[in-house]
Amino acid sequence: MRLKNVPGARETIAESSLVIHEPEKQKGIWQQLFENSNPIHIEIGMGKGRFIYGMAKEHPDINYVGIEKYSSVLLRAVQKMEEEPLPNLRFIRMDAEEIAEVFAKDEVDRIYLNFSDPWPKDRHAKRRLPSREFLARYDSFLKQDGQLEFKTDNRELFDFAVEELPFAGWKIDNITYDLHHDEEMMKGNIMTEYEEKFSSMGNPIYKYIISRI
Ligand code: SAM
Repeated sequence: MRLKNVPGARETIAESSLVIHEPEKQKGIWQQLFENSNPIHIEIGMGKGRFIYGMAKEHPDINYVGIEKYSSVLLRAVQKMEEEPLPNLRFIRMDAEEIAEVFAKDEVDRIYLNFSDPWPKDRHAKRRLPSREFLARYDSFLKQDGQLEFKTDNRELFDFAVEELPFAGWKIDNITYDLHHDEEMMKGNIMTEYEEKFSSMGNPIYKYIISRI
């Protein structure tokens, strides 16, 4: 997804009021930023933002924060928001490894991971967003009854994600190995860029919804 050398991307992101530039200063006071007490849902590794923008548009009573590592990718989401701003959506450009510095205990109601990078080498397993190391970070700020939703077309990554759960103290609430043919789990589904691409190639989409034991 990384778009190399998009001219001006870094500067545009640095100047955008849609991007929260010192997110650790918002820790514990995110609702003040949105000027309401609505729940906060976050997407980590949001890419160009199609999913989170669609969710924010469809659910105005929920506040959304989209997190993306690269300015060149986040730029597309910022440009879309400049065309049609939404009051309940903001972005952070950061590496999610630092995410526990940004949200306080119980501050987030729901987490979305969509088509996360697979990091296929074993020695990089800790970088996978559904790994036990990341689940421990999410544990520090997700409400006790909060849920995490993960979808991907990568079977190896999905199997890894499922196997990580007992080590991290999470359990499956819902799971499908063919989301687009699962009427119940498809309700309210908003496609991501990758989902559109891979499902149109005929790949099944895997999804789980998990919560703490
Ligand atoms: N979620 C989008 C979708 O489904 O179309 C994008 C999927 S793309 C394969 C993965 C995205 O996650 C990339 O844009 C990448 O830069 C971002 N990403 C990967 N690791 C990240 C991290 N540690 N922190 C923040 N973003 C990350």
